[in-house]
Amino acid sequence: MGELTAGLLVLGGGPGGYSAAARAGELGIDTVLVEQGSLGGTCLNVGCIPSKALIHVAAEFSRAAGQVQASPFGLRAGAPSLDFAQAVAWKDGIVGRLNAGVATLLKQGRVRTVQGRGTMLDGKTCRVETDTGPQTIRARHVLLATGSAPMPLPALPFGGRVISSTEALSLPRVPERLAVVGAGYIGLELGMAFARLGAVVTVVEAADRILPGWDADLTRPVLRGMQRLGIELLTATEARGLAANGKALRVAAADGAEHTIPAEAVLVAVGRRPCTTGFGLEALDLAMDGPFIRIDARCATSMRDVWAVGDVAGGPMLAHRAMAQGRMVAELVAGRRRRFEPMAVPAICFTSPEVVSVGLSPAEARQAAQEIRVGQYPFSANGRALTEAAEEGFVRVVARAETHLVLGIQAVGAGVAELAAGFSLALEMGARLEDIAGTIHAHPTRGEALHAAALRAMGQAQHTV
Ligand code: FAD
Repeated sequence: MGELTAGLLVLGGGPGGYSAAARAGELGIDTVLVEQGSLGGTCLNVGCIPSKALIHVAAEFSRAAGQVQASPFGLRAGAPSLDFAQAVAWKDGIVGRLNAGVATLLKQGRVRTVQGRGTMLDGKTCRVETDTGPQTIRARHVLLATGSAPMPLPALPFGGRVISSTEALSLPRVPERLAVVGAGYIGLELGMAFARLGAVVTVVEAADRILPGWDADLTRPVLRGMQRLGIELLTATEARGLAANGKALRVAAADGAEHTIPAEAVLVAVGRRPCTTGFGLEALDLAMDGPFIRIDARCATSMRDVWAVGDVAGGPMLAHRAMAQGRMVAELVAGRRRRFEPMAVPAICFTSPEVVSVGLSPAEARQAAQEIRVGQYPFSANGRALTEAAEEGFVRVVARAETHLVLGIQAVGAGVAELAAGFSLALEMGARLEDIAGTIHAHPTRGEALHAAALRAMGQAQHTV
């Protein structure tokens, strides 16, 4: 049996784990990273990156097909065709390039990687089953970054036609009929992408609305986008299981009435569960928060020198949060003073249109008993949006009434995901409305809508055309 010692052992090579390991290596900490699958974790292999590749293919296809909206400037295209197998291979190529990039990053930090499933024996020791036999690693600090997995529904166990987002990203062909259970961001992103690729899509949601947690002003354009794509949405509806012939989804409306939805595939996207069982954590003295490992603002767990980051340690379950926490833990282990500030963590739905939220919405700010000012500016008055024939949506700024401190920024519209960095920077820097208003925004760009929204919040008029 091989034995290794290290300053830091990182269990899990997703965004949280690899970011921590790379930063720790850079800071001179002797680091070992254990990963059972491919470097990059959920995000790189079966999450953020492949889903955005598929969404891009779908957007290009539907644009070429003039599917969503007839061109207002006279462009007529022939019927496009798509080699879906080539699209999937292209997506896999991108994943492969990024996997190699993570490996290089770790190598640069002199991080030793061990391939295999790790089991924690105590708070300092991990046993890894590798291809060449078991290996034991003892470390002064341990970082748990084991991520999450798709949540199964008891009535619809994964297998056969019932798939998770993982299988949805590598289907052999576009299903003719796709039923999506769950109208959260993963279900809607993938459902809309397949609708654009030609699938007949039905979305079934137990709650009475899509994207619970996002306010109605932001989700209304997404609802319209679903309607334009011909997606049938059944809210307040429960998925009950597959029909007897296995070729349809049985659902029940709020009044109990049951019916079936024919489906070549049923994508269950009802959330993700943290990976905390089956590798020795149960035997440790770790305090839990429901299914998640409990952490404090430094990502310290209840055990000395045992840290946890990312999806395994609560929400929001987002790659950039995991990465930021991972880098922070590496710096803490190196003796620096840090704490995690979640205020400026952006959340994005890569639906069509896209939705972004950073900080507090108006309702959340009011709930926190704050007197606020809100400035909202529509893309229909933004020159760049008009020249791109994409005038739906808006940017909204929420600020404290008295001090003008920016509390939150939200946007919905085509391509707004790329505005998120500026929104987060404003919150991170503690910007006031005057800071945004005093920043010269390039013209003509969609980003000017943020400038105009800040001016509106201060009661000043502005147009960006
Ligand atoms: P993970 O990425 O889950 O990595 C954990 C790693 O630990 C895995 O590689 C696993 O193999 C390994 N592991 C677990 N147990 C062991 C063990 N015992 N031994 C060895 N290795 C182990 N987030 C965004 O920010 N933006 C997006 O656009 C986005 N899109 C998404 C789309 C989809 C379809 C999905 C499913 C997720 C998406 N996410 C997105 C969420 C994002 O993928 C996760 O928040 C992120 O991957 C969490 O990182 P992590 O490091 O905590 O865990």
